[in-house]
Amino acid sequence: MPPFQYRATLSFAKQMDEADPLREFRSKFLLPKTNSGDKIYLCGNSLGLQPTTVSSYLSKELEKWETLGVEGHFKGENPWVFARKTSKPALAILLGAKESEVTPMNSLSTNLHLLLVSFYRPRPGKYKILAEAGAFPSDQFILASQAKFHGYDPNEAILEIKPREGEHTLRTNDIITKIEQHAHELAMIMMAGVQYYTGQWFDMEKISACAKAHGVPVGFDLAHAIGNVPLQLHQWKVDFATWCSYKYLNAGPGNVSGVFVHDDHGQHFNGPRFTGWWGTNEKTRFQMQNDFQALPGADGWLLSNDNVLGLSALQASLDIFIEADMGRIRKKSELLTGYLEFLIRDSCDDPSLINIITPSNPKERGSQLSLFIHKRGKEIFEHMHSEGVVADWRNPNVIRVAPCPLYNSFTDLYNFGKIIKQSIRKFVE
Ligand SMILES: *Cc1c(COP(=O)(O)O)cnc(C)c1O
Repeated sequence: MPPFQYRATLSFAKQMDEADPLREFRSKFLLPKTNSGDKIYLCGNSLGLQPTTVSSYLSKELEKWETLGVEGHFKGENPWVFARKTSKPALAILLGAKESEVTPMNSLSTNLHLLLVSFYRPRPGKYKILAEAGAFPSDQFILASQAKFHGYDPNEAILEIKPREGEHTLRTNDIITKIEQHAHELAMIMMAGVQYYTGQWFDMEKISACAKAHGVPVGFDLAHAIGNVPLQLHQWKVDFATWCSYKYLNAGPGNVSGVFVHDDHGQHFNGPRFTGWWGTNEKTRFQMQNDFQALPGADGWLLSNDNVLGLSALQASLDIFIEADMGRIRKKSELLTGYLEFLIRDSCDDPSLINIITPSNPKERGSQLSLFIHKRGKEIFEHMHSEGVVADWRNPNVIRVAPCPLYNSFTDLYNFGKIIKQSIRKFVE
């Protein structure tokens, strides 16, 4: 808990903004506008805002394309053949990985399939995948289609962990117990880092340790975790992970994803893997021969040459993350999320009307609260939207609100608090 009491007043919010070491970072982002000012943008968990520097980063590459044409692959500052390498130091910091363990490529769903080719190795009697119930639909489709691809019925192969009756999130002990009970039949554990619907940050370290103790490979989907919560994938001995760059990472719609493969595997991998020319030894790549010599580390999973324009937009954002520092971002995230929780409780303390399903323990959440609205949720959501609040609605009745430390202020949250209070009065009380 912060060493002070939160207050639902504008002067308190302004005081918090003045004391915020990251306050200048808001001006590095383009905020959508209303007629009278900035929207209250609380949707960075879905699509992060555009850094003001993106267009100049892109222009550089466009200019190279214009002036050098194909020679841009080998000439100029940052030749395109090495484009992905620029992002590695920052990605490694955000993920708690070695640079050799990360590489940017493809999109999240594509990467998850590629990683499962290597890490989901089912055999009779040991073919099950442990996953959280209610995972993001793409992840559910991916797991089901991978099980089918190996000849298993997804209903049998996918073992879901559900919250206890009357609860919305998972207890770490229940996850551990489930792993222990089923370890003998598990081929893999695949979970979100931060769950998209509830905002719960799973105890990745404990889950990995338990998986390791039982010899079961473990992977995480970090779509809602990267750039949101501090990660230590190497130290936690996570086997593999993927993410997307357009949510908390602010790299633009559909932009480049990436993979993490622990060096315990990546440095001498001889399991199955789908390969392409970008994953082979750089010295022989352009000799156009047919013997594949995998690059060491995560790079061995590369298929295609780099998406240079995408990577340059990503870099604009990563440079901001490095300047801001993940430690400071996390500190502000805890304060903002705590303040948001306080304001929501202040606007309505009736849990039969609004229930915050995201854990209240800061160690079990990042920058997101999911509000389970029992009555007239859609009307409340739409009214807030007409007042300039950008949040998101997830069926059947959840509003997700995500304050992003890089561009949201305490005043944004104060204003959100006023609007949600009005909306509740208008429709429910
Ligand atoms: C956003 C998100 C995706 C999106 O996948 P794409 O391949 O980038 O379209 C997948 N899984 C999870 C958990 C997500 O949050």
